[in-house]
Amino acid sequence: MMALVDANNFYVSCERVFRPALEGHPVVVLSNNDGCAIARSEEAKALGIRMGHPWFQVRSLPGVVGLSANFVLYGDMSSRFMAICAGLGPSQEIYSIDECFVDLTGVGQVVERAAFFRQRIHSWLGLPCGIGLGSTKTLAKLANHVAKSAARKPGSYPAEFAHVCNLSSLPPSDFDAVLAATAVGEVWGVGRRLSAQLNQAGVFSALDLARMDTALVRSRWSVVLERTVRELGGQSCMALDDGVTARQQIACTRSFGVRVRELGPLQEAVSAFATRAAEKLRNQNGRAGQLMVFIQTSPHSREPQYANSAVVEMIPPSHSTIDLVGAALRGLSGIYRVGFNYAKAGVILMDLCSGPVQLEFGGETSEALMGTMDAINRRFGRGAIGVASALGEGQWKMKQELLTPHYTTRLSDIPVARA
Ligand SMILES: [Mg+2]
Repeated sequence: MMALVDANNFYVSCERVFRPALEGHPVVVLSNNDGCAIARSEEAKALGIRMGHPWFQVRSLPGVVGLSANFVLYGDMSSRFMAICAGLGPSQEIYSIDECFVDLTGVGQVVERAAFFRQRIHSWLGLPCGIGLGSTKTLAKLANHVAKSAARKPGSYPAEFAHVCNLSSLPPSDFDAVLAATAVGEVWGVGRRLSAQLNQAGVFSALDLARMDTALVRSRWSVVLERTVRELGGQSCMALDDGVTARQQIACTRSFGVRVRELGPLQEAVSAFATRAAEKLRNQNGRAGQLMVFIQTSPHSREPQYANSAVVEMIPPSHSTIDLVGAALRGLSGIYRVGFNYAKAGVILMDLCSGPVQLEFGGETSEALMGTMDAINRRFGRGAIGVASALGEGQWKMKQELLTPHYTTRLSDIPVARA
């Protein structure tokens, strides 16, 4: 038995936890530089606001509230959410910022337990979520879709499936009815293109897909789709991936809030990106053998265009902020050209390895220094301590005019309750 826990409209829900007055109002969370919608409340969806809808086109709609994406808040709320979900069963796979699978092997009274955890997530964190239960990951995903739809769109599925839906306890005829009521494009792994192809072949619902001949699916489409068909039939083909897979590269890139011409602010931006990337690298216990730094003008403007990148070898591979910032600045000095309006820059760490490497002279000092730096930044908030070249006016920074406070990660931003 597998569960899929998914928080509703996650970014919007995180904002509403700290600003309950936003409840019931159309809220959109905006992408970097406040350009377009990347999350919408149900009310915003009802106004016809789409994902990616430019903010300037929707800002005048009645009552709409736009907020800059506060990823520090969402990341912290996500880790709290995942920690609670982990208690649901013996093992967990974190699937995205607001979704996880939990293996319920050996767990009894699964529906009651899921409902209890849903309530716990709501009372401890203030986040609404839906939980789908099924005998395979694909069915748990589908059950979650049913749980969500039954709550949001009355009539789409029987009302008793709202919030927590267990597909594995249904009599075969009810199970088939749920699959028949689900468009094939809602099945996990069936994207828009595949869905169009399947429609052409006369496959419209999840039930149509579940009844397809597996050999035909494999020969005409792929083994991946064949696995989906088997999973819809209750045959588990996808194991829980509970190992934390270390990333093969770490990128930190940003578009600037304003155009940047001078070397100084570029150095500052690149230092900040290398600092952030180095933190991520140490979090996964890695070291980088190469660092790439790039700068570019905006391809959307009519101004003179320039884009370039440089790769710097790290010998030996390093996870030290000081080494990586130094490498990024060396790379930048080789590619910077005067006379352009730069719109974006980034630092990418590559050739990652983990585990101890031969320590150079002074290596132990660096190890201790980085550990201390991370501890200070964890305690007092990101950027409390860092390399001097990353500090400055911050004129390159993203436009985030509608940003909410870092309620859960910065001492000065903690909400105060008065009684
Ligand atoms: Mg979600």
